[in-house]
Amino acid sequence: MTWQFEHVTLGQRVRFGTGTAADDLAAEVARLGARRVLVISAEAVAAEVTAKIDVAALCTDVAPHVPVENAERARALAVESGADLLVSVGGGSTTGLAKAIALTTGLPIVAVPTTYAGSEATNVWGLTEAARKTTGSDDRVLPVTVVYDTTLTASLPRDLAIASGCNALAHCVDSMWAPRTDPINQALALEGMRALSRGLRTPGDREQMLYGAYLAAVAFASAGSGLHHKICHVLGGAYNLPHAETHTAVLPHVLAFNGPAVPEAAARIEEALGGGLIDLYDEVGASHVLRGVPDVREAARLVLPSVPPSNPREVTEDDLISLLTAAQNPSGAS
Ligand code: NAD
Repeated sequence: MTWQFEHVTLGQRVRFGTGTAADDLAAEVARLGARRVLVISAEAVAAEVTAKIDVAALCTDVAPHVPVENAERARALAVESGADLLVSVGGGSTTGLAKAIALTTGLPIVAVPTTYAGSEATNVWGLTEAARKTTGSDDRVLPVTVVYDTTLTASLPRDLAIASGCNALAHCVDSMWAPRTDPINQALALEGMRALSRGLRTPGDREQMLYGAYLAAVAFASAGSGLHHKICHVLGGAYNLPHAETHTAVLPHVLAFNGPAVPEAAARIEEALGGGLIDLYDEVGASHVLRGVPDVREAARLVLPSVPPSNPREVTEDDLISLLTAAQNPSGAS
């Protein structure tokens, strides 16, 4: 087969270390020449991370899925405080609030992630208004720098660390058939899967987890949202479901559905994971049970219009009903 593709790599600086966040952040603030830093964080660790910079203002108004009212208040604070740099310290919800400010103000972001969600490496923003989540992509929201510090995810409760890691795995797996999949983002996705499965199997190996989470997000940003992300996005918005847990539960079922249509990709995924996904889940104690969807028929109807036309196999409403029913039923998952 002859390759023909157009690949975009987003430009971003990454600083990675262990116990290095405060120094790396101070170096970045100096490099960018920032004088008035607005810190966005509701995490306890923010004080330690920002200990070596001057903080002009602190926004703790972080909520899941970035409600538009929170975004408006944070944008007003950015203006009032005369901020010239945004520093986010937290998971995807925190990075998301910084992105909402950057979207309208154009202020640069330095992101300091404390989960494996990966929002820090994408140019995708999301806002929720009246229980409806809108997303878009805009290069203004891509953080200029990501400061990774493996000590910052140490405080994640074990279940959340696993779910967040599986959320990152979902970025990798979905990248194998997403609308802009190509050999470059597939290479990133496969190495991401190797690192994440190693990290998940070795609790405490946060270096592999963060490295994998970054690769996962870069692959996802390049490949776009495939079937898995479309399903989770619609379900999350419609039923206000927890992000990482929903991704964790849905992923094995999308892989079981799409895998047979892309046997080569499925084999590469299995090789990278060091075995089957369900076996990995069972080994590390990840839950593959979907909770919080009251009506799978309604959910299937809501998801169907979002299914990417490029999905490797056709998806009908009945397929989605079966997939979601299997996701709700643990025995259907194995
Ligand atoms: P989150 O940011 O909501 O964090 C989940 C919970 O973990 C929160 O209660 C938070 O306070 C807590 N937490 C975070 N770090 C912690 C730590 N180190 N120790 C202890 N507790 C900690 O959830 P998330 O899964 O990181 O992010 C989900 C959000 O990110 C969703 O809104 C999702 O849509 C968005 N997201 C966006 C993109 C993108 O490209 N735009 C990518 C991935 C996720």
